[in-house]
Amino acid sequence: MREVKFDMLFSRRGALVMLAGACLAGRLMGKRSDSAAKAWLDAQDLRRLVPSFSVPSRERLLRSLNNRALRGQLPAAEVEGIGRAERKQVEALMVDLLPVAQLYARPPISSYRVGAVARGASGSLYWGANLEVPRQPLGYCVHAEQAAVANAFLHDEAGLVALAINAAPCGHCRQFLNELPNAPDLAVLIANHPPATMAALLPAAFGPSNLGMRERLFGGKSFDLELAPSPEEDLTRAALKAACQSYAPYSRSPSGIALRSLAGRTYAGSYIENAAFNPSLPPLQAALVSLIMGGEEPGDITAAVLVEVEDAPISQASAARDALGALAPAVTLRRVPARWKR
Ligand SMILES: [Zn+2]
Repeated sequence: MREVKFDMLFSRRGALVMLAGACLAGRLMGKRSDSAAKAWLDAQDLRRLVPSFSVPSRERLLRSLNNRALRGQLPAAEVEGIGRAERKQVEALMVDLLPVAQLYARPPISSYRVGAVARGASGSLYWGANLEVPRQPLGYCVHAEQAAVANAFLHDEAGLVALAINAAPCGHCRQFLNELPNAPDLAVLIANHPPATMAALLPAAFGPSNLGMRERLFGGKSFDLELAPSPEEDLTRAALKAACQSYAPYSRSPSGIALRSLAGRTYAGSYIENAAFNPSLPPLQAALVSLIMGGEEPGDITAAVLVEVEDAPISQASAARDALGALAPAVTLRRVPARWKR
């Protein structure tokens, strides 16, 4: 995230966009979850964020952004419609939309808002933004690129074809993105720079193939887990489903977390692992991405369940408890052990 700071400081336009985004986001957080049905953005916000868009395109975008059931997805039909109206290629649209993605940033430590827009194989776009956990190690932070990938993954996308970001992705994110099935060909669109491929950004990469792994993120594989006795409660069932869908080919320690919010909604997150281990995205962080994309805040969490395999080589429980304790101190994480289906 540091390089974003420098890029933004040295780019006047970038600095202005960031400042406007920060002011707007601060205001939006104020009006957030008083009513989930209430619009969280209005036409004026959109005029500021995407000034080059026509009024009909802004209205179209506004409808999707205010539809919280979409949870951070801009459906393919909307992307196509806006692209046609604006006479722009989708890659250019993605870069134009970065100030919108920045609204989802929650950076209480750095105050730097990073936005990312991922394009799924279906043609839909997914917002991503940085998320920081106060009073906890920096390793608990989620980078915007990771959030966009997790967002697309949680929407059952088949893969990603492009990713737009404010500034060049950091080494951590390049490593995280290297888990994608088409990693070398992924188009990386950096604002005010020519497009690059991951092959150019991460030469001599270390990835799944170095470990003899054929599986890749978005591969559609799932783990066969069950709970004993079988779960009755919705939240536990959602955490189990997220655990089954997690990507953990290296540790074989699938896990999932489901959060319940004040509004009574459920947000589930699956663990996303990496060949180099450290840029792995824990299930709590993935669930938090979904929660923020759904227009709610970590302080709105009322219950949390972690499902992970009993006696697996790794556990998410203690880190998830620490992070949750910093974000929603009144909530106790319930850990429900799962077993492999026989
Ligand atoms: Zn990064």
